[in-house]
Order: sequence, then structure tokens, then C-alpha cells
Amino acid sequence: MRSADPPLPQERFQLHLWRARYPAGVQTGGRLAEPDLLRLGQAGLGLEAGMVWAARFQDDTLDLSVEATLVAVCGRCLQPMTIPLGASRRFLCFDTAAAADEALDLEADALETLSSEDDASLVSLCEDEALLAVGETPLHEACGLPLDRRPVAGAERIQPFAGLADLLQKK
Ligand SMILES: [Zn+2]
Repeated sequence: MRSADPPLPQERFQLHLWRARYPAGVQTGGRLAEPDLLRLGQAGLGLEAGMVWAARFQDDTLDLSVEATLVAVCGRCLQPMTIPLGASRRFLCFDTAAAADEALDLEADALETLSSEDDASLVSLCEDEALLAVGETPLHEACGLPLDRRPVAGAERIQPFAGLADLLQKK
């Protein structure tokens, strides 16, 4: 018997479907590019060389790991900066958000849950990891040192002043 194809990263997570399709579990992974990760672009984040991800679903548990070099703009000096991302996370999976909440209440340890009602996909979970790693406002660790104005690889994709000339002309 041929085993089912692994889920597409964009596919919405549905526990009952995955359970039925992968009774013995499934392992998949790949590389996502900036156009695949729209929420990163919306947050002003770029990727140096895509995001490598791997996922394993088994026994109602999803293990996800991601690796990337994120390109952001420092909130203080507005110069480009890179943020290394390397994260692994385990989610206990549930059909409903209510069941997930109940499991959270029962566990003393911090526990990640994922439910079919979360409208999540492997892509959105990868985006979550990047957004978590960056936080609200990315800042250079040693910001304020003499700035090297040479363009950094990948920085041209982030243009914090792209609309500024237009704005000034409208005055
Ligand atoms: Zn800075």
C-alpha cells in the first residue's frame, strides 16, 4: 500500500484528516521563500536564504523545527540587522480549541497546543516562530557603534524610507 503524500505546508491543519491520512505518522520538510511567508513581509522582515523547516506528525503530536537568518531593521538606528532563527517546538494536537484549552489547564508545564480550529498551517506555524524570535521591536545588541554604511546582503529588500521621498514632496 502506497502511503499518503505528506501535507503541503500551506494546507490547513485538520487533526481528524491528518489522523486518517497518516495512521503511522508522517515526516516532511523543505525550504520556504519570502513569498511563501507573507506575514513576515508585512512585519518588515526578510530572509537571507529562505527558511528551512521540518515537521513530524505522530500520535496527535506535531514537532516543528525551523532555521533561517532573518533580516530586519533595527528600531533604534534604522539600519539593517540579521537575526538568527533556530527553533523547535512540540504541539499537542486537538480537534477543538476548547479541548486544547482544557489540556493547557491540566498541565503545569508550559505546553503548546494546536487545534483544528486554529486555522493554522505549517507555513503559519513557521511564521509564528520567526515573529516570536524577533519580538516587538528588533534592536542591535550593540546599537550606536560607528555604523558601517555599506549595504548588507539582503538589506535592499527592506526599505524603511521607500515612501519618504513621496511624503516629503506632498508637503
Ligand atoms: Zn541599531
